Amino acid sequence: MKYHRINEIKKDEFLGKEVRLRGWVYRLRKQKDKAFIILRDDRGGIIQCVLPSSSVTDLTIESSLEVGGTLFKDERAKEGGFEIRGNDVKIYSIANNDFPIRKYQSTELLLDYRHLTLRTRKMITIAKIRASILERMRHWFIENDWIEVTAPTIVKSAVEGGSTLFPVKYFKDEAFLSQSAQLYLEALIFSLGPVWTIGPSFRAEKSRTVRHLAEYLHLEAEAPWLTMNELLSIQEKLLVELIRHITEHNKGELEFLNQDVLALNKATGPFDKLSYSEAIDILRSNDMKIQDGEMIRNIEWGDDLNIDSEKVLTKDRSNPVFVFGYPLQIKPFYVKEDPEKQGRALSADLLLPNGFGEVSSGGIREDDIALLKTRIKNEGLNLDSYSWYLDLRRYGSVPHGGFGMGIERLLRWIINLEDIKECVLFPRTMARLNP
Ligand code: ATP
Ligand code: MG
Repeated sequence: MKYHRINEIKKDEFLGKEVRLRGWVYRLRKQKDKAFIILRDDRGGIIQCVLPSSSVTDLTIESSLEVGGTLFKDERAKEGGFEIRGNDVKIYSIANNDFPIRKYQSTELLLDYRHLTLRTRKMITIAKIRASILERMRHWFIENDWIEVTAPTIVKSAVEGGSTLFPVKYFKDEAFLSQSAQLYLEALIFSLGPVWTIGPSFRAEKSRTVRHLAEYLHLEAEAPWLTMNELLSIQEKLLVELIRHITEHNKGELEFLNQDVLALNKATGPFDKLSYSEAIDILRSNDMKIQDGEMIRNIEWGDDLNIDSEKVLTKDRSNPVFVFGYPLQIKPFYVKEDPEKQGRALSADLLLPNGFGEVSSGGIREDDIALLKTRIKNEGLNLDSYSWYLDLRRYGSVPHGGFGMGIERLLRWIINLEDIKECVLFPRTMARLNP
């Protein structure tokens, strides 16, 4: 038996043809002899079906069924003016009559039932855009001659600082969930050249924010003999291409989410550049305060840029901006010091416009073993845990660098949604481990 997908038959060329669909009841209106069913299929396609009431007496929302019928055009039909008139119905399963996802449910309830919320058009739309990003990204790396690799998720040591590590019982030992694949990518550039990976990173983020997940999808790339300018250019090219692709390929989805395609398309590069010192000046002239222990005080040179600072720096921009020249002490141990500016890091964060903030962090890595050892010790980390990493500097060390980009951070900006939990199918946060 040939089955159709709804989105492929909503075309004039199918008018008058026999079609066969499988799906779920999305909306239901029963009259005396006719029932109007809005059917959703397994790619989120939606179409009205008109069936004899007698054939669907028990039907409820989210019941699964198969419908055979003829395609007609009817101005009154919801969802695009096409409808199926049929009398051939096969019911797979009658759903319980209390499907919990309805209009105007609380955000918390929708999250509690995320396994069912995924059937809503909003979540289907978001999932499709997410898939498009991943698809285009993989092709982009292949086209540009990067090799895809994978790194372990159970690891022995921290990359981004101990406070966000998730411990795991590992046989008789203690291990952690990986915060970043970076150190492993650094090992791979010696034999594979430019490499990239996409996989989960885990951060035990203890504060509730709209842009932190405990598990997120992390794109990371690393290459030997990379200069800072090349590093920025790679991120810019990739992002511009992803935006171009999504605005073209997912136009319908963006429109459904009321996202302004034209606004996104303004980010065509070159991206803006802002030094950390300039950023601090802007923040001070905006009277930015930060929390310092128990105290609230004015932001000063040397402070890290938090979510509120990044909001101020990007709210009036329509172009992404690289922030460079951070003080070395607020960057992780592996970031190289700028040889031309003492105390400054050879790194840059990419901030998304319209208040969204950091989407990626990149930099040149410290390739000198003595300096690296000092930095590891100064951060209070255990040198022994990094002995394999130090080998990379013992045997043919080369200048190199890379970046890490958060996929949900990117998606959050593309679809203009505040809460990062909307950008992942099954969110993990401090308050949520289920479903
Ligand atoms: P932030 O300062 O925004 O908390 P970070 O500087 O700790 O992020 P990095 O270690 O630089 O993050 O990680 C690289 C990228 O991974 C970030 O630019 C961001 O896009 C993403 N990222 C980091 N932490 C999270 C998280 N908890 N949830 C979602 N994405 C994250
Ligand atoms: Mg960062």
